[in-house]
Amino acid sequence: MRVRVIENAGFCFGVQRATKLAFETAATTQGHVFTLGPLIHNPQVVQKLKDEGVEVVTDLNGVEEGTLIVRSHGLHPTILKEAKAKGFRIVDATCPFVKKAQSYAALLKKEGYQVVVVGDRQHPEVQGIEGYSGGNILVVACPEEVKKLHLKTKIGVVAQTTQSLSNFIEIVDELLKSARELKIFNTICGATMVRQKATMDLSRQVDLMLIVGGRNSANTTRLAKICSDADTPTYLLETADEIQPEWLKDKKEIGVSAGASTPNWIITEVVQKLESLAA
Ligand code: SF4
Repeated sequence: MRVRVIENAGFCFGVQRATKLAFETAATTQGHVFTLGPLIHNPQVVQKLKDEGVEVVTDLNGVEEGTLIVRSHGLHPTILKEAKAKGFRIVDATCPFVKKAQSYAALLKKEGYQVVVVGDRQHPEVQGIEGYSGGNILVVACPEEVKKLHLKTKIGVVAQTTQSLSNFIEIVDELLKSARELKIFNTICGATMVRQKATMDLSRQVDLMLIVGGRNSANTTRLAKICSDADTPTYLLETADEIQPEWLKDKKEIGVSAGASTPNWIITEVVQKLESLAA
């Protein structure tokens, strides 16, 4: 059995930056350090941060003082304003690519476009983008949703940074049927596109794909979907302990990919476990 891992597996630039900032802040700060929601969508890393003193809170009610680390997905500006008004020290770990999506959405709104965000409305990144554009935007996850919208003729589009390029293109195609003027900012980040392409290519060459990462991670679950859509048997797992020996039965080549918030040590453990099962 051969195990093949995509190039660039592991932390992307934004997650690397956010975790470094969080560990540094925990090490150098006296008093309460916290994030609003998990810093990144990887439970194992969030647990390590907790061990170092970074607490995850679900809202600001009841938090009286301390240092708020803004996570890589960014934060709705109203909540940021509230945090500042409460006197919290702010450490901003928002990924610069997320900031770019926020500012393009704001620009489109300012220029009078009806703003459409391609993404998941429940995702904190999309909620932040909505906040920075002043609200009143449309969020669509798939082309079928576009058909149900009341659209204007001047439309501006941005994407949640972890969207799949093919879905983005299909949605833009659908928007073109209504628009007379369509302005598009492709805000899918490079790290996402590189991982998606490498994962898709590898899934077409192997008998089984294992996608390593948080089940709550949008970009990880999207990688798993890309592989399933390519009709390759695929499992999403968070740690090496989840590997079932029967998955590997009669498989000659196993592909491994990982979300942008999956640390290298977990990927290494998965590969080592696969190799030990093959021996
Ligand atoms: S996936 Fe892209 S946008 Fe998201 S944190 Fe990583 S680099 Fe930033």
